[in-house]
Amino acid sequence: MTYRTLIKVAFASSIILFAGASIAMGPGGNCGGVGVGVGVGGGGGGCGDEQNKAGSGCQISSSLGAPVVELSSESAATLLQMREEEKLARDVYAELGEKWGAKVFNIAKAEQKHMHAMKKMLDRFGMQDPITDDSRGVFQSQSVADLYNQLVESGSESLLAALQVGAKIEELDLSDLRIAADGVNDPVLAKVYSNLSRATRNHLRAFAAQIEREGGTYTAEFLTQEEFDTIAASDFEKGHAGAQTKRNGQK
Ligand code: MN
Ligand code: MN
Repeated sequence: MTYRTLIKVAFASSIILFAGASIAMGPGGNCGGVGVGVGVGGGGGGCGDEQNKAGSGCQISSSLGAPVVELSSESAATLLQMREEEKLARDVYAELGEKWGAKVFNIAKAEQKHMHAMKKMLDRFGMQDPITDDSRGVFQSQSVADLYNQLVESGSESLLAALQVGAKIEELDLSDLRIAADGVNDPVLAKVYSNLSRATRNHLRAFAAQIEREGGTYTAEFLTQEEFDTIAASDFEKGHAGAQTKRNGQK
């Protein structure tokens, strides 16, 4: 299989979604560019919360602590994309977990948490959620929907193939998280991406270990083979977003 990174594939559609989000947020208050996208200059960035009461201005800090630092339009687009990409992971694992009954696919529960983390970040920046239907396999961007179908089809061939799909999703996720985090100056979003990356490396380790157990091999696509192998061979990392999953993928 050859995919470009999902973010690149879906970038155009994200921009469209993003534009929709900006419009929906409307003029209200003195928030100018509303904190996301529009991005360039605009001293008053950071007030991205469409729930803000009129007149509360841009001083309001997020409930997550640090003041909101405006995102570039690229960063806003990749945030939208990551929200759908976490759903892709959750939905594929849920489907393949039902099909094969392998415990490693319990990682779906962690992906649900990652989805939630992305939703909180959308809220932080006052952005519209691209997920309007949480049903399995339903995505707003066609490229993600197509990828879901391809991955499920591929992972339905055998347990080993399903585990390789898991490794591919984690590898893709890590690569896309790297792109998404690039140039993000908001400390909370940067931290969330860092936590998700750590969890993703742990998931990659879990799938790689299971592939090895099944006597299979894995060819990296989005990372270099050397980086994939180095991560797979290194110890699990502890931390909030990734600590729940042990090496064998069991709770
Ligand atoms: Mn994830
Ligand atoms: Mn993952």
